[in-house]
Amino acid sequence: MSEFLLKPRLRFGQDALAVLTELPASNVLLVTDKMMVKFGLADRVTQILRQRGLAFQTWDDVVADPDIATVVRGMKLMDSCYPDLVIALGGGSVIDAAKAVIFALAQTRPDLSRERPCFVAIPTTSGTGSEVTSFSVVKAHAEKLVLVDPSLLPDIAILDPSLVASVPPAITADTGMDVLCHALEAYVSRAASDFSDALAEKAVQQVFRYLPTCWRNGHDLLAREKMHNASCMAGMAFTNASLGITHSLAHALGGVFRVPHGRANALLMAQVVAWNADYQGQCDTQAAHKYARLAHLLDLPAHTLREGVTSLLVAIQALKDEMNMPTGIVDTDVVAVDFDLRLAEMVNQALRDNCTATNPRTPDAQALTELYRHAWSGSAALDC
Ligand code: NAD
Repeated sequence: MSEFLLKPRLRFGQDALAVLTELPASNVLLVTDKMMVKFGLADRVTQILRQRGLAFQTWDDVVADPDIATVVRGMKLMDSCYPDLVIALGGGSVIDAAKAVIFALAQTRPDLSRERPCFVAIPTTSGTGSEVTSFSVVKAHAEKLVLVDPSLLPDIAILDPSLVASVPPAITADTGMDVLCHALEAYVSRAASDFSDALAEKAVQQVFRYLPTCWRNGHDLLAREKMHNASCMAGMAFTNASLGITHSLAHALGGVFRVPHGRANALLMAQVVAWNADYQGQCDTQAAHKYARLAHLLDLPAHTLREGVTSLLVAIQALKDEMNMPTGIVDTDVVAVDFDLRLAEMVNQALRDNCTATNPRTPDAQALTELYRHAWSGSAALDC
């Protein structure tokens, strides 16, 4: 028997934020970051809270890729003001920080026997899908730890595309490639099902169709809405089917070298697709079949498995090129000597990452080392 978990409640479309006028609450904690304050997005939430006469506090110093110190700060704050409604407004970093704080507080202070607050997640990037996932990524020193627990799921997710319009092109590209990676990894995961496949297929189609428009014109709200929905659908797919080694390798690369999460995935994705498909061998793995099916859905040449996989790899590269993304890790700020020095450490982290178990092909340290080396130059996806 298998399970497909459907949570949280979704409110989507322009003006979806209006649901905040209806939620029962007396004491609210808004979790966000400085950019949300700078771009006036936090104001859009606090205005509603003020109009309703609700008591609220704003915690706005969540940092990108939140670490344990951030979570501890949040726990202290939440423990002092104990809210009945927590609203996380931001990218995956903010939503993950709020998740980890609520989770850790419930674990460490069960004696308080307080009711868990209602938890509303409002993503302002179209990337992680964290608003619908039971995952939270927290950094501990140079390692990204992936917490996985159903209690991390928000109660309500609000998808309002107008909140994403201010995302600059480079972050639109990074986060958009994260969506593609979630969908691709969920699609070929060992835990994939008809349900996750349906969501992943739709998400992949919408990324290829709408991401370049979002990158060129962030204020195109139709394209933003389609990407926001794609991000959420990919999140629903992977929270059920889990992910694969692109994420394991990206977590380690991001943890050690601070490469933004979506960019790290974009740097590693094609190499992993080729390796999962056994492109250098028979190119007849289960993953190869699914990649070829995606190529077919995208109206790309896919008369044979190899042609389908090749088409998908070429399309991924073209998407990255269209958005001026770096081709290899060599094109980022990571220094070659440091990369070599930390390679074994990253490989070990990736091997024990929660996402590795569901990758369609089981990797060993040598395979992951070679994938990192191919991703370093970025020119060798078809050689993996
Ligand atoms: P992010 O949350 O780190 O945000 C990136 C930058 O964009 C930040 O500076 C932020 O302030 C800014 N930003 C966000 N929204 C904006 C807006 N509307 N306008 C202008 N600037 C805006 O990036 P992310 O990619 O959304 O999240 C990455 C984090 O999420 C990583 O730590 C990653 O490991 C984690 N993650 C979590 C899950 C999950 O299921 N929980 C899945 C994938 C990744």
